[in-house]
Amino acid sequence: MSNRYSRPDKPVSGKWRKLRELTLRSDNRVCADCSSPDLKWASANIGVFICLKCSEVHRSLGADISKVLSLTLDEWSESDMDSVIQVGGNSYANSIYEAFLPKGYPKPKPNANDEERTKFIRSKYVLQEFLTPSLRIVSSKMSFQSLESTKTLGPSFASNSSKKTVEMGQFIGNLKVKVVRGSNLAVRDMLTSDPYVVLILGSQRAQTTVKKSNLNPVWNEELKFTIPQKYGPLKLQVFDHDVISADDIMGEAEIDLQPMITAAMAFGNMELLGNMQIGKWLKTSDNALIKDSLVNIVDGKIKQEVLLKLQNVESGEVELELEWMPIDE
Ligand SMILES: [Zn+2]
Repeated sequence: MSNRYSRPDKPVSGKWRKLRELTLRSDNRVCADCSSPDLKWASANIGVFICLKCSEVHRSLGADISKVLSLTLDEWSESDMDSVIQVGGNSYANSIYEAFLPKGYPKPKPNANDEERTKFIRSKYVLQEFLTPSLRIVSSKMSFQSLESTKTLGPSFASNSSKKTVEMGQFIGNLKVKVVRGSNLAVRDMLTSDPYVVLILGSQRAQTTVKKSNLNPVWNEELKFTIPQKYGPLKLQVFDHDVISADDIMGEAEIDLQPMITAAMAFGNMELLGNMQIGKWLKTSDNALIKDSLVNIVDGKIKQEVLLKLQNVESGEVELELEWMPIDE
């Protein structure tokens, strides 16, 4: 057994020390969900410290929702440590996830039974019932069978988001996507390609201009989308323009908009906040990210830089800058 927080096999990193300091703070010495003092676990993406029993429930939600790591046994990646350090632990995370916990709501006790515990944790993180109603964003990966707010939307809503036919009230914001550049794109003609980028969100589609004979094109072009309450991933495709035959595809990628939109909704009025990081889309083995993509407030605007490795192609990377503009109520 290794000692808690000290790794005899390698030097203790600065980040690991910071994480350890966090665990010593009083709010992080009891479980974020049931207040049990027996803390040996954390959810790296949510940024909370939790007990063994709650960690089992978190794990059952899937790593998409909660990435459970042991404080004593698991190897923590740099980005896992960053993520928890940036959230700052239980009181900060709970100030968001339990912002609208009704007075007298039965939060589970350390000795709660499995059913009580599971119900609370699902309500808190999956259904996000204790965020303000307007902040409840659900991704396609989450289960939203019991979310009243989404039931009222027809199943065709996401794919029928023309501005003309849908009232503005059903949209939650605008997304500006700057297609910055591509690099090391695949060759589709004899020696080069004439690339352009297409972005698709539901039925909305936008594309950049064609760059002639360029495998490292710089576009710096802005494309805009209106985001409905229920949205899926933003799809990106790169094509080689071909005047004679159909355009050849040069790779594709999917952009998960949820980390940015959820963070933006949770933080409210950006103009009151200084420049800071408010969220992160984590690089995983099954997404196209080259590195973790940070959501930042920059001069009152919510921005996210995204560096993608194109999928289903031999080579190519695309750099984007997203900006989120909430619709004023
Ligand atoms: Zn617990």
